[in-house]
Amino acid sequence: MTSQLPTAPKPPTADQIRRAPKVLLHDHLDGGPRPGTLIELAGETGYQGLPETEADKLGHWFREASDSGSLERYLDTFTHTNAVMQTREALVRVAAECAEDLAEDGVVYAEVRYAPELHLAAGLGLEEVVEAVNEGFRLGERRARENGHRIRVGTLLTAMRHAARSLEVAQLANRHRDSGVVGFDIAGAEAGHPPTRHLDAFDYLRHENNHFTIHAGEAFGLPSIWEALQRCGADRLGHGVRIVDDITVAEDGTATLGRLASYVRDKRVPLELCPTSNLQTGAAASYAEHPVDLLRRLRFRVTVNTDNRLMSGTSVSREFERLTEAFGYTLDDIAWFTVNAMKSAFIPFNERLALINDVIKPGYAALKSEWLFTETAPTSGSVSSRG
Ligand SMILES: [Zn+2]
Repeated sequence: MTSQLPTAPKPPTADQIRRAPKVLLHDHLDGGPRPGTLIELAGETGYQGLPETEADKLGHWFREASDSGSLERYLDTFTHTNAVMQTREALVRVAAECAEDLAEDGVVYAEVRYAPELHLAAGLGLEEVVEAVNEGFRLGERRARENGHRIRVGTLLTAMRHAARSLEVAQLANRHRDSGVVGFDIAGAEAGHPPTRHLDAFDYLRHENNHFTIHAGEAFGLPSIWEALQRCGADRLGHGVRIVDDITVAEDGTATLGRLASYVRDKRVPLELCPTSNLQTGAAASYAEHPVDLLRRLRFRVTVNTDNRLMSGTSVSREFERLTEAFGYTLDDIAWFTVNAMKSAFIPFNERLALINDVIKPGYAALKSEWLFTETAPTSGSVSSRG
């Protein structure tokens, strides 16, 4: 007999996944507004370009456009969300609703990223954009608490790879590091825009002992991962899924890691994997073929993320539902991914530890104890020894 709770023997229900405390590290603010909010904001700001005027149809349009395999159509979707996110009021609202939606989905800690330079078209300055988004997240956290949910949201300021404002954005992130901005990111099309073009921004952040992640190893393979880590000094990899190109799996299942894959695993470099997004961009053919499970079995520091909830029609819970269907994950596996993500967050160590010990572990323990006391719980004889 052991004093530990038994391992939950079968995949959790969608409701249990939703109630499980979860952590999100890779989510774009302009990839997650509610369709109904976009329609209302378009009305208020006089934006005529939305392709649909009913919320359901608009949500469907975003998913379709992102599924189409056409890069133009995919990028076009962000034109619409950003078009209506140009005023203080719009940014406050979208950020507040983001916090509420994540909290409703059981997310207890999130790092949501956005590019301040994409929200200046109606006259806001970079500082005003950051202040509006911060205000929105604090509002959303308060509303979530009133509804019985506990969530903390930090932000990452993103600079666009093709633009030339990365140092300015890095300095902006550093100025706001004590007021909700927890790090920095580089995003945008990888082709033709290597992160080394932004070395001055990364040098600056390292000089300031600040944190950053880089979108790398999504469309592009190992060279982009190597560059992000060894030339730029990234703390985490946005996606990083192509690290599997440096892993050889023999027919008997034995895996051999190349030097870069070994480095990533040895140094516990967090991988911000986004399964549904990868399926839409063609980085994986199906959930069952997604490298997330190979990387999990090899004990890489894997985390599960949404990327763009609106474009992918997803949530953190839905990502775990799909992975549970594909790989038979239990609550223990979801807890493992969640603790990985919390360990990899950019907030201070003691705050990460407090969330792990006071929120995440008790949350999973409570859910697992339900297996013992509900009708669906198995008899003790069928408890799996899987660990
Ligand atoms: Zn992303």
